[in-house]
Amino acid sequence: MKLYSTLTRRLEELPPPPGPIRMYFCGPTVYQRAHIGNARPFALGMLLRAWLRERGYDATLVHNITDVNDKIYDAAPGASAELAARATAWYIEDTGDLGLGLPDALPKATDAIPSIVSFIEKLVAGGHAYEAGGDVYFSVAGAREYGQLSRQRVEQMEPEEDNGLKRAPQDFALWKATKPGEDTSWDSPWGLGRPGWHIECSAMAEDAFGPVFEIHGGGLDLVFPHHENELAQSRALGHDFARIWMHNGMLTLGGEKMSKSRGNDMTIRGVVDDWGREVALMLLLSGHWRKPLDFNLGTLEQAAAQLETFRNVFRSPSEPVGDWADFEAALEDDFNTPEALAVLHGWRAHELLRRAFAIFGLESLADAEEAPPELAALAEQRRDAREAKDFAEADRLREQIEAAGWEVRDVAEAPGFRLVRRS
Ligand SMILES: [Zn+2]
Repeated sequence: MKLYSTLTRRLEELPPPPGPIRMYFCGPTVYQRAHIGNARPFALGMLLRAWLRERGYDATLVHNITDVNDKIYDAAPGASAELAARATAWYIEDTGDLGLGLPDALPKATDAIPSIVSFIEKLVAGGHAYEAGGDVYFSVAGAREYGQLSRQRVEQMEPEEDNGLKRAPQDFALWKATKPGEDTSWDSPWGLGRPGWHIECSAMAEDAFGPVFEIHGGGLDLVFPHHENELAQSRALGHDFARIWMHNGMLTLGGEKMSKSRGNDMTIRGVVDDWGREVALMLLLSGHWRKPLDFNLGTLEQAAAQLETFRNVFRSPSEPVGDWADFEAALEDDFNTPEALAVLHGWRAHELLRRAFAIFGLESLADAEEAPPELAALAEQRRDAREAKDFAEADRLREQIEAAGWEVRDVAEAPGFRLVRRS
């Protein structure tokens, strides 16, 4: 099994099963409902874990929650902790509804303060960090390998914000003294304050896995400064830290504007509610994880059409067509899910397809049971009521369908809805 690593700029071979394969993927800063872009690293980590487990690996995924941050203070002055708690619950609910399960652990920065403080104390004691005005900064001057992940020379790097306390412009904050308007703070050897963003992840990853682990993931936008700084902090203590650095391509919304009836809500919640979790997953699988991926009406409709093609295979008689080795080869080569989907399109063997889709959280495609005609008629009436903006009638019909044990989902392709038996 090979995966591309940003650190070495080449494909790296994983150790043979059972590993272990310990994975730490950076999670969201929680202050609103998570954008669909947050679903990409989440889904990548979960899908990769599922595949590694299928391959016989002992695979663990830790996905952190950044629940103290300027954005949270700005979004909820005086009530930042309450907002962060609410948005954490939203994130777990919304990503959970993708149907991929949840990471093995979702540690929160505010629960890791003692480890973070002790990490910073070690950096200060080793001469890698210094206190200034109640803040603590990491000194990049002594970090010989600084810049290795993002392939930059220190002089060329974008400096972090300058408040006149730092010795060098590229030095970055490990601990920040409490400022007016910040309503959460923790005690430390340097006074009341809160952790910087980068140190959270070094501390939480090492809390979970110790000083060395196999895979660190996150969006391409995190290579610098976040991951460069995580690596510098851990290496300063002599820790190897992550061996393979996976950075997923960014999710863009560049295409046509979403139509009103199809929903403009580009949160994970909105996409799952408007399109169904299968469409969201199929769209995420349809792009290679390293490449950019555009979420727009066209790509969502393509994903919906792809799902329908697979459902039709399950509606047709099973034939002994399909070779697991082809599917495996696609995923072993840098976890190439679009190539794996191309392989699945050639298969007709239901059992094999079911096994493959179970890894992708799409085993529901096999349940292509047709709804009774009287329910299809109700769903058509509901669609017409919605189009006429008679939402009360539409809701009444939805309830009637649900009472019969089925769920009606709005989809892009004709007839505009799909009936799924409720689990
Ligand atoms: Zn992180």
